Amino acid sequence: MNEKHLFIETFGCQMNVNDSERIVTMLADLGYRPTTVPADADMILLNTCSVRGGAEEKVYKRLSHYRSLKKAHSGLILGVGGCVAQQEGDHLLQKFPFLDLVFGTHNLHLLPDMVRGAEKGERRCETAFIDNDQRLDLFPPVKGASRLSRFVTVMQGCDNFCSYCIVPYVRGREISRRAADILDEVRQLADEGVQEVVLLGQNVNSYGLKSANEPTFAQLIRQVAGVEGIRRIRFTTSHPKDMSDELIACFADVPKLCGQVHLPAQSGSDVVLSRMNRGYARAAYLDRIRALKAARPGIAITGDMIVGFPGESEADFEQTLTLMEEVRYADLFLFVYSARPGTKAAELPEELSREQKVERLERLLALQRRITLEINRSYLGTLQELLVEGEGKRPGQVSGKAESGRIVNFPGDPALIGSFVTVRIVAAYQNSLLGELARNP
Ligand code: SF4
Repeated sequence: MNEKHLFIETFGCQMNVNDSERIVTMLADLGYRPTTVPADADMILLNTCSVRGGAEEKVYKRLSHYRSLKKAHSGLILGVGGCVAQQEGDHLLQKFPFLDLVFGTHNLHLLPDMVRGAEKGERRCETAFIDNDQRLDLFPPVKGASRLSRFVTVMQGCDNFCSYCIVPYVRGREISRRAADILDEVRQLADEGVQEVVLLGQNVNSYGLKSANEPTFAQLIRQVAGVEGIRRIRFTTSHPKDMSDELIACFADVPKLCGQVHLPAQSGSDVVLSRMNRGYARAAYLDRIRALKAARPGIAITGDMIVGFPGESEADFEQTLTLMEEVRYADLFLFVYSARPGTKAAELPEELSREQKVERLERLLALQRRITLEINRSYLGTLQELLVEGEGKRPGQVSGKAESGRIVNFPGDPALIGSFVTVRIVAAYQNSLLGELARNP
């Protein structure tokens, strides 16, 4: 088989990153090897995201750019997958006559067949949603990605219908994979030398709730912790309303579960939360945060916040600021609200100008920068166990991730990559820590 090259450009969340890894694995069987240079590619795929505004325009721009490569390499196959493909479907093939493939979020399994057709000049679009029963068997394993830490998809889709979010429309209804399949995949990864697994899904903590035959997410974590060779477990993303006491207890008594949790609040105001259809109030969110901090003192909490949601008053906005002070997020992903066509929130009147939203965003950013730096400084002098994952920021340094998810650079031999080491934190910056080796692995 001739070796051919595949370039994938991935937008959006970790689900898309994981799907791209799956695509690379599937297309390796057809002779495609990944490349990081688009001009060397025989196939270019865009794995798209439509969660934030302007996604379609971004994809259209990229397609126009890649068109010039197609002029130089007439056999080049060009495809679009992911959420924008799901939304736009056949319309993309009509709009871009040089585009060969469009595949939706439920159609990855069809890709090898679509590529074989495209190699013969066929153009094809597949965006039909698949029944949940059939979808259970459509999670081909990922091979050859990072050796140390891997994503393991445990569920997909979402039933929550937050009023601003496009995910339930482009990813479909929520489905939990069989625990037996997940554990098989984790055991296989452990056999390959993987040390950390990140359990992945749009809303992992509702895992298994719709199926009497599957464990709860907390039970699943305990089963994954029982797999020999796996030393660290993380998960993302969680919904506050499904953060059960049973799951929080795992932070107290499952040592392999890292002390880090991503729990998006989205707003600190009850009025806005209700308009967002988030299904919890500020007090309930803070109750979950308190329980997490009690279960694992020092737990690093990260989150997402939307600023400028329709109808957000200055008083609502100030509620978000005070929530941030109370939670003390280690890191926060901040977004200016922009309407996604097709969602309920897109029908709400917007009263804030772009400038007003950006001004509020700046205030949130300033506050979060201060809190993050204070938290980073609290690690000074402490010992941290790191999984060393690669080269450091500066020559002579290597870099690893602490249990909290913090990136720590330290002077060290690249031979340490892949091992666990203990370092003492000697300096704290905005986005990373500096350590020095305290003990060899
Ligand atoms: S929980 Fe809400 S924000 Fe998250 S994916 Fe589901 S609908 Fe979107």
